[in-house]
Amino acid sequence: MREISHKLAFVHDTPPTRYSDVFDPNNGGVQARVALGDAALLDLAVAAAKKAQPGWAAVNPQRRARVMFNFKALVEANMNELAHLLSSEHGKVIADSKGDIQRGLEVIEFCCGIPHVLKGEYTQGAGPGIDVYSFRQPIGIGAGITPFNFPGMIPLWMSGVAIATGNAFILKPSERDPSVPVRLAELFLEAGLPEGILQVVQGDKEMVDAILDHPDIKGVSFVGSSDIAHYVYNRGVAAGKRVQAMGGAKNHGIVMPDADLDQVVNDLSGAAFGSAGERCMALPVVVPVGEKTAIALREKLIPAIEALRVGVSTDAEAHYGPVVTAAHKQKIENWIQTGVDEGAELVVDGRGFKLQGHEEGFFVGPTLFDHVTTDMSAYKEEIFGPVLQMVRADSFEEAVSLPSKHQYGNGVALFTRNGHAAREFAARVDVGMVGINVPIPVPVAYHTFGGWKRSAFGDTNQHGMEGVKFWTKVKTVTQRWPDGGASADSAFVIPTMG
Ligand code: NAD
Repeated sequence: MREISHKLAFVHDTPPTRYSDVFDPNNGGVQARVALGDAALLDLAVAAAKKAQPGWAAVNPQRRARVMFNFKALVEANMNELAHLLSSEHGKVIADSKGDIQRGLEVIEFCCGIPHVLKGEYTQGAGPGIDVYSFRQPIGIGAGITPFNFPGMIPLWMSGVAIATGNAFILKPSERDPSVPVRLAELFLEAGLPEGILQVVQGDKEMVDAILDHPDIKGVSFVGSSDIAHYVYNRGVAAGKRVQAMGGAKNHGIVMPDADLDQVVNDLSGAAFGSAGERCMALPVVVPVGEKTAIALREKLIPAIEALRVGVSTDAEAHYGPVVTAAHKQKIENWIQTGVDEGAELVVDGRGFKLQGHEEGFFVGPTLFDHVTTDMSAYKEEIFGPVLQMVRADSFEEAVSLPSKHQYGNGVALFTRNGHAAREFAARVDVGMVGINVPIPVPVAYHTFGGWKRSAFGDTNQHGMEGVKFWTKVKTVTQRWPDGGASADSAFVIPTMG
């Protein structure tokens, strides 16, 4: 069987003792196994990173940016191969896999401008003969722990900024789709990145714990489900690291009575069902405001959902492919049953979906619930599948309160033609990323990505300036150059610039 391994800066010939299966979601079989690393392997990777990092930090930022330019060109040249590899393990359709990698590349494009970003601050004449300047230095060795659902984009969010700012970076990708991160690390080497600056260690909880406890890893960026994000945050911080830990989501799409419903149905179809709903910025909850809006929206949604084409990830006509594993398919179908048991109306049932010729594939048909209420656990928890839940609201106020009161606060969207309502909504809603007539408001790379409440632990976001702040520490120098005259008397009070 094909074996997927680590990408290290040294020869490692100790045979692995543990493996995890990597499935073929289109057909249901095991296609490969990935070696799971342990603390001893991590020690070696950290030692290699420690050796390489000072030299890389000393490379001037313009040269570091050149590696980013080279890498971008290499990824573009290999886009097809990368997208097929990604789809074969994740199950998302090829066009969506290309989007996954492209969104990561946009962060690399941001990193191409790193010299500008790292210029620092300077105050001339802050006091008599005194100048002050601040600049950012790399934290040293950083680590990233990533989820299965964006095996291209999220490793690039983290590694791009960490490396461009002069750190060495160790990535532990999801064991469910581990191949693309290894390929990206190979392309970074080809782009001119020195050995040891980016390494990939494969593993599960054992490796995550080793990363969190390792004294030489100074910062950990995590993306995954909320309970694990919370655990990672607490354990990493207790070990003295800076930690940013992004968690789960349950994003609401609020539809005002004046919205263009045809456009809303188009937007919702893609945002709720694209990538089989396995996106932290999916829109799994729709909130029509007013009875009339609910009736009209439901009437248009049902045929649109029934017309969705579920297919294998290489089917260019398919709207979405299989989910990642049989266990995840089962979990989604269990949630659908829970919704029924809790009294929601199951309008379109995607359970038991079989694709002809791929009967063992991990497919879930599109599912629609109506009359979902806020007390239901199927509403409160993340399902992470192709399931859209309609929660009816009587007023704008009620609609704003729903995402605001929800435990998650990743993304939210409002569909309206009313600028005042949109402005109020954006200002008041208790959620980190807001779309106004934009169903999936993932911010561009030079802004920053991060949710609120149980969608993120820690206080800095991914990429943009927040990412730069996370992967660097600021140093401030206050300097005076004596003019050669008599030196001042000793000062025993705190110096001021007055
Ligand atoms: P997950 O939490 O199962 O796994 C994420 C990472 O944690 C993986 O690398 C995994 O190996 C590791 N891990 C798993 N169990 C662990 C444990 N017990 N202890 C320590 N580490 C452990 O998440 P997933 O299923 O791979 O990804 C889907 C989740 O990620 C969803 O909840 C989704 O909303 C979330 N997500 C969030 C964002 C965001 O930016 N907020 C983005 C993408 C995905």
